[in-house]
Amino acid sequence: MKIDVLTIFPEFFKEVFDFGIIRRARLAEIVEINICDIRSFTTGKHRKTDDKPFGGGDGMVMKCEPIFSAIERIVGTCERENYPQGTKVVLLSPQGRVFKQSLAREFAAETNHIVLICGRYEGIDERVNDALVTDEISIGDYILSGGEAAAIVLTDAIVRLLPNALGSETSAVNDSFTGNLLDYPHYTQPREFRGMEVPEVLLNGNHAGIERWRKAKALEKTKKVREDLLDKE
Ligand code: SAH
Repeated sequence: MKIDVLTIFPEFFKEVFDFGIIRRARLAEIVEINICDIRSFTTGKHRKTDDKPFGGGDGMVMKCEPIFSAIERIVGTCERENYPQGTKVVLLSPQGRVFKQSLAREFAAETNHIVLICGRYEGIDERVNDALVTDEISIGDYILSGGEAAAIVLTDAIVRLLPNALGSETSAVNDSFTGNLLDYPHYTQPREFRGMEVPEVLLNGNHAGIERWRKAKALEKTKKVREDLLDKE
């Protein structure tokens, strides 16, 4: 899997992929992550990545030319119908469909090259969306000041689902959203802390009992905070 992030703030990503599962996946060459500076695809003296909006109004709009040049270089073509199989060009945008674990799974299973385009200011010239983008994706119903934080969210969620990315000590099977339940509660040492005890059932080694308790707790939590999940599937 190769992930290219297009941004005007490459510094933003300095160490963000250097920890834990993502770092290990990079070292094991399960994924290659490249940060591409949109400014390096600009031409002209001022190397402009943005300009005033046609029609007036507040703020600036990111220009389309450097993004087209970047896609041409990174994907090999600007013609969406000629993208190689398994290539996704994603525009991070509050107007996209909302990112979910199911979409992370789909991307992890079916793509081998993802380009993430991070907007800033008022957004990006719509022609990028019209001609280049295969998927417009939002990470939730709120406005960020840039797509960078969203690109990190997608990258993290997708990479940890790639085959062999999770070490033997962790597993995704019980994670929230893998089925239609949230995860069960976890406890570790000490057994008693400030008067709060670890539930007895976890201490007695009765695996069937533990399994039942965890299932019940997961169900109880899901009912309480995310009843909508139970209606799915
Ligand atoms: N004017 C735009 C918002 C621009 S915010 C609108 O109202 O739709 C600037 C940039 O931040 C966007 O181009 C996008 O890349 C990113 N962004 C903001 N909120 C986001 C969200 N919820 N999910 C993904 N990207 C987001």
